[in-house]
Amino acid sequence: MKRLIGLLVPTAIAGWVLRGKIAVAVTKKALPKRLSSDPVADLPDGLHIAICGSGSPIPDEQRGNPCTAVIVNQKIYMIDAGEQASETFARMRMRPDQIQAVLLTHFHSDHIGGLASVALQRWVANAAETKLRVIGPVGVDRVVNGYNEAYALDNSYRTAHHGEAIAPSASAGMVAESFDFDSGKTSKVVLEDGGLVITAFEVDHSPATPAVGYRFDYKGRSIVVSGDTIYTQTLVDAAMGADLLVHDALSADLLKLVEDASRDAGFLNRAQILEDVIDYHATPADAADAAREAQVGALAMTHVIPPLPIKALEGPYLGDAKERFKGPLWIASDGDLYSLPVGGRTVERSSLFASGPLG
Ligand SMILES: [Zn+2]
Ligand SMILES: [Zn+2]
Repeated sequence: MKRLIGLLVPTAIAGWVLRGKIAVAVTKKALPKRLSSDPVADLPDGLHIAICGSGSPIPDEQRGNPCTAVIVNQKIYMIDAGEQASETFARMRMRPDQIQAVLLTHFHSDHIGGLASVALQRWVANAAETKLRVIGPVGVDRVVNGYNEAYALDNSYRTAHHGEAIAPSASAGMVAESFDFDSGKTSKVVLEDGGLVITAFEVDHSPATPAVGYRFDYKGRSIVVSGDTIYTQTLVDAAMGADLLVHDALSADLLKLVEDASRDAGFLNRAQILEDVIDYHATPADAADAAREAQVGALAMTHVIPPLPIKALEGPYLGDAKERFKGPLWIASDGDLYSLPVGGRTVERSSLFASGPLG
């Protein structure tokens, strides 16, 4: 027996060493393609939206905290930056130096928790000449000032280590740009750039106020991102006739299962929180009603609550949403890309997550 083990151990070590050599060779071959790929460069003229986080604060193995990235003219406008935003963004092989601004919908932790990482990755990707613009309703300056202070030491270490040419101290961190709606108005144009118009509009996520959604219009195509909200007429008005509505959606029925199980297990705080969150998010039925009333072309549900670890839960999650809205309807996943080329009416869905080695 000892002799047998004596023979097997060297053989196992040899196999392990060989597998390691093959893995290094595969990595060496795959890295150049991986690092030079730029999916944004290949997109046709139009509006495109990538999902860099389709989940919620509830831990979810499949979905990161909220983040969407609108791509137009090779420029990226990120809406919210929850935890894992920059990691998922990187998995989609998008370049952080193309981020023009982050637009915040509101200041819940799940929407701002990844801001510092996004700012860092953009800063050092190509020695950014400006600080990251963070646009949001009143209160955005507090978030940005807090992050700038929290990461001041980290930024100084990066400059000291890599030099001003790589990590310029003058462009470290973020700059806040806040907006407010004019008296009696519930929407406002907050950014215009090369044919792109971004309009913020008020939504209802009380007690988290202010809370807004954003509409993007470009050469006849349009995308609306709801932010966190219940069904609200201001969203229906702002989304009127859009090609694609990306709406938050919480299944109260499925969440009740988690709430009951939490209470039975003695996690009373968690159960109460899960009960509370139902009153400030739309359900899939609400999102479908908003989509139908706003006569949008297609609907993607995001901010998916609760997690859907089994694909067969997607039907119960949607409930009767497909009867309420007859157009194309998807449950967004991290890595999704929705493309709206100029001149068409279609919305095409694909995934930016690469497969294969180092995908
Ligand atoms: Zn929220
Ligand atoms: Zn949220």
